[in-house]
Amino acid sequence: MRNERNGNSRDILRRWCSGQSNALAIPERRKFRRVHGLQLPLHPQQVTGWIVILIIVVNTFAILTPLLEPNLRPVFSIVIAAIFLTHICSHLTVLLLDPADPRVRSQPTNKVLPEFDRQKHSHVIENGRCHLCNITTESKRTKHCSICNKCIVRFDHHCKWLNNCIGARNYRAFLVCLISAILASLFVAGLSVTELSFSLFTDRFASPSMENNTTDPVIPFIAPASDTTLIIAISAIGILSAIVAILLLHLCFFHGYIACLGLTTYEYVRNKREKNSVAAAVAIAAAATAAAAAAAAAASTAASTASGTATSAVTTTAATAPTSVATTTVTTVAENASTITIQR
Ligand SMILES: [Zn+2]
Ligand SMILES: [Zn+2]
Repeated sequence: MRNERNGNSRDILRRWCSGQSNALAIPERRKFRRVHGLQLPLHPQQVTGWIVILIIVVNTFAILTPLLEPNLRPVFSIVIAAIFLTHICSHLTVLLLDPADPRVRSQPTNKVLPEFDRQKHSHVIENGRCHLCNITTESKRTKHCSICNKCIVRFDHHCKWLNNCIGARNYRAFLVCLISAILASLFVAGLSVTELSFSLFTDRFASPSMENNTTDPVIPFIAPASDTTLIIAISAIGILSAIVAILLLHLCFFHGYIACLGLTTYEYVRNKREKNSVAAAVAIAAAATAAAAAAAAAASTAASTASGTATSAVTTTAATAPTSVATTTVTTVAENASTITIQR
């Protein structure tokens, strides 16, 4: 009975926080298209992101800003509150804006999409026609997201942190969300370092009101905490914010880079995969050619003791076989590369 109850709890948790595994995919997710990022099932990374945001916001206003000098506190509080608010608004915008093709959005959300049948079609989108959404796409950059089960205009990527696709319609909001998160995490990390520096060099925190001001309504909240507790708490917030800032800065630079190239994330990854496949094919071909040369040389040496006719036959066979293997290998890898390219 208890095991059954635990099993039900796990099922409920799995429904709420499902991963990307097809084995765990619930029927709702495969039959219908996802409309927005708050639609169930939530993704574990999405929930983790919310928890990190909550920890940083709460600790900023509960610990970091109260430790500031009273005359600095309002300015810093307003600035960081504005950055947090911008991030939360853009975060919600990216989550709730449906980046699907307008013709997909005009269809009812409870429309059951067919399962993709590889026996009938090689790809989901062929000649500009999506076999699942039953629409004709306007651009080659429109891709069918298998997780959201819908066609996305100028598909960039499916973001697990936002549990939504990023496409033409919500890309700007995504950039605002990303930049505001970087600003917030850098601001909080900087504030943490400043507070720790004060405690290290002056043996007390920045706010003089920590010692004897009992009229300040903000200070009593953190006054009972010892300096050691505050140092540990501030260090933890600073490290968490710094890690978030580093990861997001990397992502931001990447998006700046692909913007300069005029590519989406999907196109960049696809091109890179294609280049890797071609490079692998060239390496295999070079190895096969070297093997052919070695075999030909060996055959030539062996045949030098035999008759002239036999020498010619052996050499030709030995040289041709590895070369044809190399050619076949190159062709196969190149075909695989093109399959990867147009798989969606
Ligand atoms: Zn589609
Ligand atoms: Zn998606």
